[in-house]
Amino acid sequence: MSVYDKYKTVIGLEIHAQLLTKSKAYTSDSTEFGATPNTNVSPISLGHPGTLPRLNKNNIEYAVRLGLAVNADIRKRNEFARKNYFYADLPKGYQITQDTTPICNGGSITLFPNTDKEKKITITRIHLEEDAGKSIHDQDPYNSLIDLNRAGVALVEIVSEPEISSAEEASEYVSQVRKLVRYLEICDGNMEEGSLRCDANVSVMLKNATELGERTETKNMNSIRNIKRAIDFEVKRQIDVLEAGGKINMETRSFNAIDGSTFLMRSKEEAHDYRYFPEPDLQPTNVEKEYIEKIRKTLPQLPNELFKYYTHELNLSDYDANIIIETKAISLFFNELVKLTKNYKAAANWINGPIKTVLNKEALTIVELNVKPIDVAEIIQLIDDGKFNRSVAEQKIFKLVTNGNESVTEIAKHLAEEWGLSQESGDDVIADYINQVIEQNPNEVERYKNGEKQLTGFLMGQLMKISKGKADPKKANQLLRDKLS
Ligand code: ADP
Ligand code: MG
Repeated sequence: MSVYDKYKTVIGLEIHAQLLTKSKAYTSDSTEFGATPNTNVSPISLGHPGTLPRLNKNNIEYAVRLGLAVNADIRKRNEFARKNYFYADLPKGYQITQDTTPICNGGSITLFPNTDKEKKITITRIHLEEDAGKSIHDQDPYNSLIDLNRAGVALVEIVSEPEISSAEEASEYVSQVRKLVRYLEICDGNMEEGSLRCDANVSVMLKNATELGERTETKNMNSIRNIKRAIDFEVKRQIDVLEAGGKINMETRSFNAIDGSTFLMRSKEEAHDYRYFPEPDLQPTNVEKEYIEKIRKTLPQLPNELFKYYTHELNLSDYDANIIIETKAISLFFNELVKLTKNYKAAANWINGPIKTVLNKEALTIVELNVKPIDVAEIIQLIDDGKFNRSVAEQKIFKLVTNGNESVTEIAKHLAEEWGLSQESGDDVIADYINQVIEQNPNEVERYKNGEKQLTGFLMGQLMKISKGKADPKKANQLLRDKLS
């Protein structure tokens, strides 16, 4: 047994999600990402004396949406507080946050839903706050640069209980939260652009210990993969320190994406005393029951609900259902598709096969794709009618719809004409071929009827010749045998 097996890992995550509101939390400044630095600012977001913040109601709505989606209790009386500290990217000298009255308490996020690894992680609280500006340290060799466009953008902070027990569970937690905020359309979930950020509180303890170990908090991981790397590093580092007789200090660490290590940013002694006090310029906001119920009615179908619908009502496999619910746009596409075809399994196969492949290859989202649900439904119908086989449908028809402006019907018609690829399987058409075969080959038919069953091959050959290779062989064979028996 390695020393690492003596310990268990305890993780609590704090996720900051930038809300997708058009204007900032307390001013009408735009929240657009990537604007020229320091252009989306105003005296209010810069905190000039005498200016007054005004609450953007959408903040409340978005936080309530999230709270309802995770089954949290939603607080009626919401107060705002100032969290005071000095930093160059915080011209006001404080952030407006919710200190003792977070808008949501409780609720949970489910990890690995519908698998044998399923586990619920309790949410401690979700509160509203505003973002600070951004300090940029890597663009100028001598100076740190400041961009205040982000200052005052609305955030929710989602704090978990220390119930996450591995780096793998932590990555799953973040991807579930990201999926949820995207389904709810309250945050774009883009970690590279910083609209979703995660701080990882990590500690280790001996497996038989009863008290949690001292934790460190690691910041600045800009992808789910890096969250996992940072936690793996931190767990190993902490165990190494403890095994060498050392002790873990409560401290804030930063992640170095180049070598996957974490390093000390500040220790507890340097921790801020934020001197919270009630924000004098904002009145408490009441979130009434009727309002909450109104918002509840506007919630979209969430991944878990969709999973149940797909597996219980459409009889899809868990595997297929999980792939489809991965992104909201794809599940919406699928929901349209299954209104247009009854062949749900084929619908799922088209999404999880050819469609996903083009999306990945061309780096497109499904809404940008030329292929629409109706096209896929028509292709499925062509195959089910035996007009084309799956590989022709995929390599020719689907490809042409993806590339161009032609409709499925047009493409199918052209293909049938030009290349004779269309299979004919209509009973009438095939019956007509069979009659011609019988007419033209009376002797063989007679011998077949007298027991020379091996003549099916010959007769089928004649039939395929008459149909110029277009008859669906399987069906023709069946109908021919029926006719002659
Ligand atoms: P802080 O202001 O110190 O960041 P918060 O309450 O905002 O405190 O967040 C604390 C986070 O640390 C929570 O996610 C909590 O679950 C987590 N946490 C608390 N104790 C431990 C511990 N011993 N090991 C790991 N995580 C912990
Ligand atoms: Mg915190």
